[in-house]
Amino acid sequence: GPDLRLTPLPAFNDNYIWALDNGHQACVVDPGDDKPVLAWLQDKGLQLIAILVTHHHADHTGGVAALLAHTGAKAWGPAFEALPDGVQRLSGGQQIEVLGHRFDVLDVPGHTAGHIAFMGGKVDDAPLLFCGDTLFSGGCGRLFEGTPAQMWQSLSSLATLPRHTLVCCAHEYTLSNLRFAQDVEPDNAALQAHMARCLDLRQQGLPTLPSTIGLELAINPFLRVGEPCVRSAAQAQCPEAQHDTDIFAALRRWKDQFKG
Ligand code: ZN
Ligand code: FE
Repeated sequence: GPDLRLTPLPAFNDNYIWALDNGHQACVVDPGDDKPVLAWLQDKGLQLIAILVTHHHADHTGGVAALLAHTGAKAWGPAFEALPDGVQRLSGGQQIEVLGHRFDVLDVPGHTAGHIAFMGGKVDDAPLLFCGDTLFSGGCGRLFEGTPAQMWQSLSSLATLPRHTLVCCAHEYTLSNLRFAQDVEPDNAALQAHMARCLDLRQQGLPTLPSTIGLELAINPFLRVGEPCVRSAAQAQCPEAQHDTDIFAALRRWKDQFKG
């Protein structure tokens, strides 16, 4: 299909409801609140046709019922989580067509047990990844329901996506993530450059997202557990960590206690 337009709609303190449109019809991802979506649809004169949900948390699902009631949209979400009525169920390996584009469903458990991601579409010739609370710029989601091994596997699968993939994370957590990342890798020049860029964007009130897989591979410690400098930093916190999963788990625990 033709190129889509991608818009992050801010919601609550630091959520983004990602919106896609073709000038007439629109799709939103993880609408925790219906109000910013309805205001945007009205402002742009768009018809909502699809709602994608990555996981069951209220800040991602709270607007689904009202949007289904006010529009003719269809909604899709994870197969194995408690979701609002009317959401069709998907799991990894399945595909859906939205706005004339194919989206692949990926299983990415860890933040929640049934978390899924959507990969597909096209903006400026780049595919889109809607990863919910699995991958953030410079960080990853907390492990509320999954194990470190599950989350490490989920992040590893996202790391193999094309480098130009646009990573549409559901929260603006970038600056605090990058402060932690700088503690892990104080000599990472790409990380320092990205921090400077993001400080500038936030000072202007602009989103730091979308990111790209290529950028995250260069700056995100949770995708860099194989790098010697990240390994040794994690092992300074947790000397018994050897395998990648244990290095990842040590980093995640370190971040959980980090006061940025
Ligand atoms: Zn969440
Ligand atoms: Fe969230």
